[in-house]
Amino acid sequence: MFKKIFLIALIVVGVGFYRSQAQSADEITAIAEGPKILVLNYHQIDNKSAYLAVPISDFEAQMKFLVDSGCVTITPDELYAGLRGELQLPPKPVLITFDDGYLDNYTNAFPILKKYGLHATIFIIPAFTGVYPGYMTWDQLKEMEAAGITVESHTLTHPKLEELPDDEIRNELLNSKNMLEQNLGHPIEFLAYPTGTYNLHIAGIAQDIGYKGAFTIKYGIVDGGSNFFALERVPIFHSPTTMKDFYERIAWRQSFEEFGWQKK
Ligand SMILES: [Zn+2]
Repeated sequence: MFKKIFLIALIVVGVGFYRSQAQSADEITAIAEGPKILVLNYHQIDNKSAYLAVPISDFEAQMKFLVDSGCVTITPDELYAGLRGELQLPPKPVLITFDDGYLDNYTNAFPILKKYGLHATIFIIPAFTGVYPGYMTWDQLKEMEAAGITVESHTLTHPKLEELPDDEIRNELLNSKNMLEQNLGHPIEFLAYPTGTYNLHIAGIAQDIGYKGAFTIKYGIVDGGSNFFALERVPIFHSPTTMKDFYERIAWRQSFEEFGWQKK
């Protein structure tokens, strides 16, 4: 008798488990529909020995790999429109991003991007622009924009946003937007959170100010399940095996898709 009840209970639980699995599989399919966008995140392109600095020849090999693999580089506007179903994106869309606005982006990365005809987006700290050595000037940014590079905001002074009171978070997000718009003459609508850290409260302020989206360093692929204010990126760093790491990180793209990476 007890054996029989136990068996029935097991079947009920089993069917319930199967059903919940099936439902979540449907959800995953729904979430994964639409474009999948690889967003690479670089900082420095330089031969110095630093975690943030990808060696120049490695960077060039990575760009060549993207081109040879049939990847097409897009802008943040295209990412936004593609996710909203307003634009048909190419089959392998990639957004190349750089954080902080280091001078080597102009001296080392820009010639390689031009050579391969690639778009990229640089998130700038306007209070550092043309002020500190090691960061790009406004003229350099304008020259890059004229050649297909997009400049967006990385806040005014690169603080840890989550440690600031609301009015200072607002100032950082709004003043950087205004300063970039005044100097570059076009709307600034995308943000990269300094150090990648964010929360829903900060995201709400960014949205309120007029940003259309914000990038994190949450490791993943952007797709229909992504939050516009918590967009995933794949960081590329310098290591003893930079190229191997790059290929592995790019290969993760397949894994994300195979395992139906959950965004929420
Ligand atoms: Zn940064």
